[in-house]
Amino acid sequence: MGAPYTARCACGSVTATIRGEPVGVRQCWCRQCQQISAGGATTNAMFRVADIELNGELATHGYLADSGNTLTQSFCPTCGTAVMGRSSARPHLRTLRFGFLDEGHGLAPTAAIWLDEAPPWATIDPALERFDRQPPAPPS
Ligand SMILES: [Zn+2]
Ligand SMILES: [Zn+2]
Repeated sequence: MGAPYTARCACGSVTATIRGEPVGVRQCWCRQCQQISAGGATTNAMFRVADIELNGELATHGYLADSGNTLTQSFCPTCGTAVMGRSSARPHLRTLRFGFLDEGHGLAPTAAIWLDEAPPWATIDPALERFDRQPPAPPS
């Protein structure tokens, strides 16, 4: 396992190749991630912008998050697959959704964040580092 990683949306209109290791892999339970994921957490790998080669058109939605950062979420405009997010606090990183990454990548989350907003039925792997809200930024 390891870089390069490849990614593809459900319809194939958006693809990516990532030539570098993620700086962090997290599960996020914030309300907006529940909306993206249809009710659960999102699972995400944060990669450096310089390592990502993205092909295809994206639809985007930006908003002011509870963290105080402006988040911009990207989707395939044809099939709706969640592709990635970017935060105004971390312009050098993109948060790629596990559902966009091709299978066999071998990555797994090490932390669960925004547990304050998780539904009561959520099951959190006890092996994960836990954060009730936004954790400190990963190293650049
Ligand atoms: Zn698509
Ligand atoms: Zn989230």
